[in-house]
Amino acid sequence: MEVIVIGAGIAGSVIARELAERGKKEVLVIEKRKHIGGNCYDTYDEHGILVHQYGPHIFHTSKERVQEYLSRFTEWYSFRHEVVARVGGQLIPVPFNLNTLHIVFPKEADQIEQMLIMEYGEGARVPILTLQKNENPLIRKVASYVYENIFLKYTMKQWGQTPKEIDPAVTARVPVVISRDNGYFSDKYQGMPKHGYTKMFEQMLDHENIKVDLGVDAREHLRLEKGKIYFDGKLFEGDVIYTGAIDEFFDYQYGALPYRSLEFSFEYFEQPDFQGHSVVNYTVDEDYTRITEFKHLTGQQSEGTTIVKEYPRSYEQGKGLLPYYAINNEKNADLYEKYRQHAKEAEHFYLLGRLAEYKYYNIDGMAERALQLADQLI
Ligand SMILES: Cc1cc2nc3c(=O)[nH]c(=O)nc-3n(C[C@H](O)[C@H](O)[C@H](O)COP(=O)(O)OP(=O)(O)OC[C@H]3O[C@@H](n4cnc5c(N)ncnc54)[C@H](O)[C@@H]3O)c2cc1C
Repeated sequence: MEVIVIGAGIAGSVIARELAERGKKEVLVIEKRKHIGGNCYDTYDEHGILVHQYGPHIFHTSKERVQEYLSRFTEWYSFRHEVVARVGGQLIPVPFNLNTLHIVFPKEADQIEQMLIMEYGEGARVPILTLQKNENPLIRKVASYVYENIFLKYTMKQWGQTPKEIDPAVTARVPVVISRDNGYFSDKYQGMPKHGYTKMFEQMLDHENIKVDLGVDAREHLRLEKGKIYFDGKLFEGDVIYTGAIDEFFDYQYGALPYRSLEFSFEYFEQPDFQGHSVVNYTVDEDYTRITEFKHLTGQQSEGTTIVKEYPRSYEQGKGLLPYYAINNEKNADLYEKYRQHAKEAEHFYLLGRLAEYKYYNIDGMAERALQLADQLI
């Protein structure tokens, strides 16, 4: 082996392919799950509906290099993602925009719309902090509606926080969009791999220089000692790219890095449609934060439909849930830094990915970072 890649998610798969294509003859990918794709993995459920096992993943990017790169391994089912929130029995577009305004404040909407356009210009994304400071009580009313009904309880559920614990800087940035466009993302490219993510990953890893070992935990084979890498007890002098959890790799010796987790509840209905939308956010009531109906994301035609409800949970290592979202604060950054310094002792050991870097990435950001690391290594 010339290179060992730990993890077959987007980070591991992109870098493995890239290094193989750029001349590395033997690239070994070790993946502890029984499948490739990491958290992007999708599969057909027992009713024949393509579902995302680790939560719904919608691809969106404005990065030309990433779009071009991934398009080598898949065609796209292209669609524009829109999200609605269920508030008081109504479905309203989010982020809050001019269409939402007309649903929520039908009587005053025309007047408020004119004021917003005059004040901030069409197309602007105005943080609610700015609206809260506006002298006009009608504009302030919009800001408090958004804070109460779209932001506050949703954020409390998502992060398990009390209102006091919510970072005011985050609240301040919640936008109102002065536009009639219900699009959730503004990226140039949006959609889903036409035949699913797993197929895209299969294509990516299908290269004569790549070998994939599934169901193997790298920690049973790999260790770092005094700045050297050992694989099955033998000194390994090639590059190792590690995309798993960094605290786990070092046996939590400095303490566990905190994460937020999710629990998913899948339900199947023998009816062609459940909610008429791909994603409905529950921003005020219910314990779950959103319901996703997969066929509206993938364009699949079928008589039945599968949905998934997402319940935010706190994460505790070894209790069955998975680490999903890094919790960014100074204390956790300091803890992560200890692990990073430790990993740096071995010259050819590279940390890549949301768990190894303790950082949230979208799929496109992750792919870009993997391509950049390949540039650096070759
Ligand atoms: C609920 C949720 C929804 C999301 N939705 C979107 C979205 O809509 N759009 C978007 O762009 N992004 C989305 N993301 C982000 C996306 O999931 C990440 O960008 C992506 O998964 C990061 O890829 P990765 O390769 O770093 O990690 P992962 O996908 O987690 O891959 C890491 C792999 O390493 C393996 N591994 C770990 N440790 C070991 C070990 N010791 N030995 C062997 N293998 C190991 C794991 O089993 C895993 O397969 C979402 C994230 C979450 C949590």
